[in-house]
Amino acid sequence: MTDTAPALDRLRGDAPPRNHDARTIAALTANPGCARRGLMDAAGVDKDAVARHLGFPAPFGQSQFAITRGNGFEQQVKENGCAELLTLLRERAGLDVAEVAYDDLEVVAGGEGRELRHARTRALLGRALDGDAGTLFDHPLLKLDIAGQPAYLEPDVIAFQLAGRFHVVEIKSFAVIDGQAEPEQVAAAARQAAVYVLALRRLVAELGHDPARVSHEVFLVCPENFSNRPTATALDVRPQLATVERQLARLTRVDRLVEALPDGLTFALGEELPETVRAVEARYAPECMASCEMAIFCRDEARACGATGVLGRSVRDDLGGVDSVAAALELADGTREAPPELAELAGQLRTAARLRAEALQLAAAGGVA
Ligand code: SF4
Repeated sequence: MTDTAPALDRLRGDAPPRNHDARTIAALTANPGCARRGLMDAAGVDKDAVARHLGFPAPFGQSQFAITRGNGFEQQVKENGCAELLTLLRERAGLDVAEVAYDDLEVVAGGEGRELRHARTRALLGRALDGDAGTLFDHPLLKLDIAGQPAYLEPDVIAFQLAGRFHVVEIKSFAVIDGQAEPEQVAAAARQAAVYVLALRRLVAELGHDPARVSHEVFLVCPENFSNRPTATALDVRPQLATVERQLARLTRVDRLVEALPDGLTFALGEELPETVRAVEARYAPECMASCEMAIFCRDEARACGATGVLGRSVRDDLGGVDSVAAALELADGTREAPPELAELAGQLRTAARLRAEALQLAAAGGVA
């Protein structure tokens, strides 16, 4: 636990910490600069419950149909000791996987305690790394430290290749049609797989082995062409790995955010919740709508104060140092004096405003002619 752990517990109020999973950890990378999200996630606050309490429920969530379909596909791929998955890895992905051992780590001696499951994952992985038998591990339970809180992660399967490297296999139920899948879904799967690769590398290092024995190449298994027939695609997740590592390093510095908070602040559900949430700075951007439970609340807040982020992350970044659209317009028409650090930006805004006015004049003149 870190020094900030008691403060983070207080922030959460009486609620139990919400565990991260690969999806939530991957989503941290979607808005790196948001203190609100960083703090709520570090404290394990249930953002979904907070958003509902504020009257702005999350705009997303999987339908029951999609969940059932996803579970059915995963079950099919893993049937008979992952027979279908092995065929795919051998034939389509070209992996030289010979006879394999298969271990399901979901149930340990009749119980499913997470510590116990994690200990068994460690033990079996250790044996496999030392050259003992063990090729496919189903339901391994990995652990990552997120600002002092253990986050348990469960990859769909880990395949152990003969060449001595582990590959994460991610099973997803979105379709690959004529070799193409929805880029956003592939990107999200790559971010999640990168979290698993990172957790696995840390475990391998803890066990005294080279983390590079966990490959940055992961395998994405999806249904093919409107059927339930699975297909496997190799993905290089090095860029996503770098981003996730950077973000986790930032999260461990959450102590700075905690220090800056007013005393007694808590995200416990109650009358003061809106005020509490607003006390922590947010960096809303339209991308939040796909990745953060707080998105509708933050969008409403950003619109109300005319934040530049409402116009998109690139506009906000281009207008760095100018927080509101109104301020940008005043700098552009010269009614606001720019401080020295914004002089260059103000000049660019005035030029843009002049060019726009000239273009409008020309268009109007052309229209009359
Ligand atoms: S929705 Fe709000 S809290 Fe979540 S990342 Fe965006 S700005 Fe931050």
